Amino acid sequence: MMEKKIESLKRILEESSYTVAICGSGMMEEGGYLGVKFQERAYDIEEKYGVSPEDLFSSSYFNTRPEQFFRFYKNEMLHHMPEKTESWDALAAMQNAGKLQCVITANIFSMGKKVNLQNFIELHGSVYNNKCSRCGRLYPMEYVRDSKGIPVCESCNGMIRPQITLFGEMVDSRLITQVTDEVEKADTLLLLGTAINSEVFGQYVRYFNGRKLVVIHQRDHHEDHKADLSIIEQPKNILPLLGY
Ligand SMILES: [Zn+2]
Repeated sequence: MMEKKIESLKRILEESSYTVAICGSGMMEEGGYLGVKFQERAYDIEEKYGVSPEDLFSSSYFNTRPEQFFRFYKNEMLHHMPEKTESWDALAAMQNAGKLQCVITANIFSMGKKVNLQNFIELHGSVYNNKCSRCGRLYPMEYVRDSKGIPVCESCNGMIRPQITLFGEMVDSRLITQVTDEVEKADTLLLLGTAINSEVFGQYVRYFNGRKLVVIHQRDHHEDHKADLSIIEQPKNILPLLGY
């Protein structure tokens, strides 16, 4: 059964003129990172900080209680990053073989950059991009992670802000356009570690007008039968088997 599915996935990729992959939270989960909104983890966080993750990771919290924001952000995210899994190496190999033209993610840990994906869109930004909110000076992730309390700028003492989308914030409209364009252009759309009607990506999947929609996701989802091919498994257990 699984062998057949992998054969058909390979055929789809071989016949595809433009393949786009969307990487969801399942791609972090398989690397040992559970998103802060997941029930199990959200409960622990609320116990520990006395506030829900949605509130902690919001722009209003960042603006009014930066010290608590950074305590949470550093402890739960920067000191707790997912491992890069075999999936990312497989995506890089697919790209280099000319079988993958674009990768889109809302994950903020820049896995695609670690394997040199060329057309890699980070819809919600990256923990590796940090900017002084006063003078605009840029800082590496390590500077924020290793700072005591609120990270401040060495030049002007302004507060440094990670360039990521917090809860309650609008996504950069240029990125929305870029993602929509890529999905519209796709002949094959791969949903990796995410479902067809996911909260973040559902609105983009609707623009897909190509031939084959493929879902590879560990969580069985009732909408996923709408896909041309659905594999209920972690991407890291499937993508390397393609042999690129
Ligand atoms: Zn500054």
